[in-house]
Parts: sequence; C-alpha cells; structure tokens
Amino acid sequence: MKLSIYISAFLLILMLINGFASTDKADIDKKVNDLLSKMTLEEKVGQMTQVAIQVVSSQKGTVDQKHQLDSDKLNFAILEKHVGSILNVYDIANNVDYWHEIITKIQDVATKKTRLKIPVLYGIDAIHGANYTKEAVLFPQSIAMAASRNLELVEKSAAITAYEVRASGIPWNFNPVLGVGRTPLWSRLFETFGEDPYLVSQMGEAYINGMEGKKNNISSQDKVAACMKHYLGYSFPLSGKDRTPAWIPERMLREIFLPPFKKAVESGVHTVMINSGDINGIPVHSSYKYLTAILKNELGFKGLVVSDWADIVNLYSRDKVAESLKEAVRMGVMAGIDMSMVPYDFSFYDLLLELVKEGTVPEARINDAVFRILKVKMELGLFKNSYPVKKMKNKIGSSESIAISLQAAREALTLLKNDKILPLKKEKKEQKILVTGPNANLLSVLNGGWSYTWQGNEENFYPKNKMTILQAIEKKAGKENVVHVQGTAHNKEIDVKKAVDTAKESDVIIACIGEPVYCETPGNIDDLSLPDAQLNLVKQLQKTGKPVVLVLVEGRPRIITPVVENSAAILMAYLPGNEGGTAIADVLFGDCNPSGKLPITYPRNVNDLVCYDYKPNEIDDANKHNPLYDFGHGLSYTIFEYVDLKISENQIKTGDQIKIEVTIKNSGEMAGKETVELYLSDLVRSVTPPVRQLKRFKKVHLKPGESKTVEFTLSEEDLMFYGREGKFITEPGEFKVMIGNLSQNFILVN
Ligand code: BGC
Repeated sequence: MKLSIYISAFLLILMLINGFASTDKADIDKKVNDLLSKMTLEEKVGQMTQVAIQVVSSQKGTVDQKHQLDSDKLNFAILEKHVGSILNVYDIANNVDYWHEIITKIQDVATKKTRLKIPVLYGIDAIHGANYTKEAVLFPQSIAMAASRNLELVEKSAAITAYEVRASGIPWNFNPVLGVGRTPLWSRLFETFGEDPYLVSQMGEAYINGMEGKKNNISSQDKVAACMKHYLGYSFPLSGKDRTPAWIPERMLREIFLPPFKKAVESGVHTVMINSGDINGIPVHSSYKYLTAILKNELGFKGLVVSDWADIVNLYSRDKVAESLKEAVRMGVMAGIDMSMVPYDFSFYDLLLELVKEGTVPEARINDAVFRILKVKMELGLFKNSYPVKKMKNKIGSSESIAISLQAAREALTLLKNDKILPLKKEKKEQKILVTGPNANLLSVLNGGWSYTWQGNEENFYPKNKMTILQAIEKKAGKENVVHVQGTAHNKEIDVKKAVDTAKESDVIIACIGEPVYCETPGNIDDLSLPDAQLNLVKQLQKTGKPVVLVLVEGRPRIITPVVENSAAILMAYLPGNEGGTAIADVLFGDCNPSGKLPITYPRNVNDLVCYDYKPNEIDDANKHNPLYDFGHGLSYTIFEYVDLKISENQIKTGDQIKIEVTIKNSGEMAGKETVELYLSDLVRSVTPPVRQLKRFKKVHLKPGESKTVEFTLSEEDLMFYGREGKFITEPGEFKVMIGNLSQNFILVN
C-alpha cells in the first residue's frame, strides 16, 4: 500500500516535471512565433545571413598585431543588413579578455541598437578544445579520442570544451565531425572518429552529451550548441582530396554515412553544417532530398541548418549547377539551408530579399528558417543574456581539465608492435637514448590543424609550459641520457649521418616520424606513403642494429611498411594534443599501460585501402584483405585473456533481444585497461554481408590477476541491413558473435 503511494507520488512528480518541460518548449515556440510575427522581411533575411568576423574588422590579428573590430562596419552589418550570426576568429587565437571585448561590442550593437534586440549568434570551430582561446585546454583530436574507446572521456572533454567556449563568450561550436572516415587519404580524417559507423555514432553521442548536456539544456552557462557536420558524405571523396566528388550508393549512404547523424538527431543536437562537396553529382547544399526530405522530414531534425564556408556561392562559382549567384541562393534556401555562411559580403542577404519579393522563394520557407534560428538563440538563453559571464574565465585551463586531456592522450596511444623492447626501463640510467625525427621537438605536430590558428602551424603560439616528445623523454630519462638529432624534416634530409653516428653510440633510438600540421584542403596529398626522407632515416638507423622504436605522430595512417619489420616497436600517437608529449613518454617508460585501439584500418600498401568490414569476396587469396594493422588492433604491456563467452539463447525470434557475456582476465603483471569489442557477422543474407561489424564495446580496467565479466545486449536493430527492396530488414539465419578470440553462433527465426 505504502509502496503504491510512493510510486504514484513519484509518477506525479515525473508528470509534473515533463509537463513543465513541455510547457517550457511550448512557451519557447510561442515566444519565437511572437517575435517572428513582428519581424520585417529584411530582418528575417538578415537572421539567415552569417558573415565572417573579417567583414566587421579593420585589422587582422597576427603574431605582432592585434585584431581590431571596425564599429562602422559592425553597425552596417547589424543595423543595415540585420546580420544574425558572425563566425570565427581572424585566424588566430585571442586571449579570453579580448574575446569578451569582441563579443560585448557585437552584442551591444545587436541588443541595444536594433529594433527587436535580437542577439547575434557567434559561432566558432572549437574542434579539439576551445582552440581559438589562448588559455584553453587542447585535447587529442577526434581520431585519437576514438582510439581511446572511452566514451566518458569524450563526454568530459566535450564538457570542458563547452565550458571554455562559453566562458569566452561564444555560445555555438561547429563540432562534432560525424563523417565516417572511410578514406585514409582525406586531410580531415583526424577530425573524424574513424571508419566505423557504430563507433562514430557512439562517440558523437557522447560528445553531444558533453557539449549540450544530457538534456540539451543549452541555456546552462557551461553549455553551447553543438553543430554536427558535415552532413552528408563529405568524408568519402573518391579521390581522397578535400571537397571533391563522392559517389555513394543509397545502401552505403544509409548503412554507413547516415547513422551517426541519425543518432545525433536522436541525441537532440541543435545545429548541423552541410557537406561542401557533392554526392553522385549533386552538391549537397542544393539537395532537397538530403536536406529536407531526409534530414528534416525523415530524421525529424528540428534545429538549424547552416551552410559551410561560401558553399551557396560555390553552387554557382565552383560547382556550376546554378547559372547565377541569385539562382544559387534560391537553390540552397529551397533545398533546406536555414543560414548561409556567406561569409565575406552581403550578397546572400540582397539576393534572397529579391527572391522573396519576386515570389521565387516563398515567405513560408523564410519563416521556417528564421524560426529555427531564433529558437536556437532562445534555447541558448541569449535573449536573457548574450554577454560573456566574466567570472567564468577563472576556470579556463584548470589543472583538472588538463588532467583529462592527459588521460585522454594516454588512453588514445595505440601500441601497434612491441618486440619486448617497451616499456623502456627508467632506472637504467646508463641507457643512452637517441631521439630523432621531424616530430620529436615540436608542439604543433602533436596538435595538428585547428590549434591557435586554422592550420595550427604557428609554433610560437604554443604554450611554453607544454612538453614536446623530446622534452618529456628528457624529463623521464634524465637530460644527460638523451641526445637529440633531428635527422630529417618531414620531406627533406637534414643531418641523417649525424643521427646514424649518434645511433651507433646509443642503446635505443626513438624515431618520431609522421606528418606536418595541416587542415582541410591544404592538407591534400597525392601519395599516402610516408615521405622518403623519413623512411630513409629510419632505414639507416635500423642498419646500426640498435633497437628502433617508431612513434607515429600523424592525422592519417601514412604507409610505413618498408620500415615495420626492422622496428622493435611502433606506437601510434595520432594527434594527441598538448599533453601528447607527456603521454608518449609515460607509455614509452611504462608509467602508463597503453590501451588504445585503432579506429581505422592501418593500410599496408598505398592502393589497398579497404576498411575492416569488407565483403566475403575479399577473404581469399588474390583479393585477400591484408592491412598492416586491422581496425581494433592495439597491444598492451599486460596479457588479457578472454574466457566463457555465453549467449542467452541459441535461437531467437525476430524482435527478441539476445544477451551476451564474456569474462576478461588480466593474466599479466601490470594493471591495464582493455576494450572489449563485440563484432557480429550475418553468415548468409540476400545482400553480401560484411565479414564483421562492430556492434558494442566497453572499456574495463583490470588489476593483475583480476577478472571482470562484461555483458552486452543486442536487439533487432543490430541484426538489420538495407535490403534489396530499399528497406532495413532482418533475414532469418545464422549469426556469429565474435569477442577477442572467441565466437558463438545463434539462429534468428521468423
Ligand atoms: C570548414 C568547416 C568549418 C568552417 C568555418 C570550413 O572551411 O569546412 O568545418 O566549420 O570552415 O570555419
């Protein structure tokens, strides 16, 4: 009796809370509609216009000169052109006080001098931390976060980023990248969470939870609106070059590229940015099918759709699908773009106004777009306060936040090979270490693009208190035991002979090789091979017979096959961020047991770029899938044994769930973390089945001798595929569950 009273009281409270939440929502909708009804067409079209900060600035910020806003230009943009949004920084990071100054000046005009006092929505690319705020914490790039397989760390790093962006006075972040990274050539692979749709979906969801909060209450002062991007298919350019055509059949689109966006919509993400490129010859910015039919109608996305940089203009000037700029504007808006990142002028505003006045674009479409924009502004709480909250700045770059970045870097590092050389002994003080390679003594290369500048290549901007790999090794092993000879630049020999001579006198060689920094199209390459200069350096070092440890600092898997066999160990560091040097030294010297797993397939050869979920006709002989290291590969300093794989049923009916459990034991001598990954294979079906697909993962910590049992549940959705008739279906038959070296089959019946 008592219990039922409690339950009823609890239910009543829940109903009230939900009731309030929906009243809140209804209330916001009403307020937005009220505001909309007061707006002139000019004010509405202005809201849909986003310009770069350059448009309202008089001076570019550089290393030696400070960026300057121009109040005449600012007044013109906001008062005459009713601009609703401004983006980005003048290409360099500002300190937080200067951000406050910029945002305050902008909001002063928008909320004090305009008729309806609509605040400006400022947006920025905080890709791996609040990377345009000097004091902020930089985290490992997304590809590394995916290697950590640690959703909690992804969520925490996103929450810190949200805090630091908002503390800078900015409420909107153009991240996460939810493109599935299926081509290793692409210069933006490092911004993705890897090649598997499930992994990307899970990571994306965790990131959005961290950025917007689990309930997406973005009015909270420590949250910002996230922007999933770049919808859809941007991550799969056929040539591997940035912003070039993708050819993606419907099945691949729906099985691989759409799911992370679908999951993000379900997670309540507030905004989306569109793919700059085209799919099957249709620029995505002009596609009603992708933007309205699928995104807004089918997935039910209610948020705001922003174009990418100049991509409405590009429909005319680059893609040649519109015969005039005006036609490009019509196409983009009618396809479903709500806000145009114009970004350098007011052409979008002027032309859209004309189009509506002529009746070519219905005002209903404008109202829909502006409703979406105002709603995001209102949900962000900008109508209540659009100004920076000054006291928040004190927590930017806190030691707790730095510790999370370090932990993420440590958990991302992926040990690809280890011929019993690692971990290096710290106590062996007489051990002489040669540290060499182009990435040994730079901070920029640990961070990659989107770090203090767009390209991330201004070494001078990096904080002096962060350690390069060399400095961290020196700290760990004693400066007197470490010699540094660079050997080569990324693409050019420097002092290879000196490096080799030093190697002969050393006990171990740590070669830090990989890529220079880059971002977007400037990062295009014609050849995935690691440049010859670096391969030759390593080969010469290997000839000394001394053990060579490779540390790969790179945003995509450059081909290293010629130097793999003779390397004693290989550690994949990806782009581990500002704490990366420390984390690498921690792993090399055994202060951290590596636990990263590859989020991509590491190819062996330049022309063999098949992902891990290949098809049956790629199993055998001539077609055999033969990567250097497979997706999911990653070694530990301890031994994990998998035993007792159990499935709850040998036979299930369509719609049933199935429970799977497995026990993992740490039978080695060091504590460590292991990611338990569950793969599934549908053995026979009417559309060729992938040999395996990741369906679940869970990271566990185990002390030596400790065992843990991990349980997973699969449901009907996990068994589905895009059938011959163009619908997601299951088919009766046998499925194989694979975890570690164990497997079990079950049967699905109708
Ligand atoms: C990139 C986007 C970015 C935008 C704004 C574009 O070039 O593709 O990812 O958000 O610039 O900086």
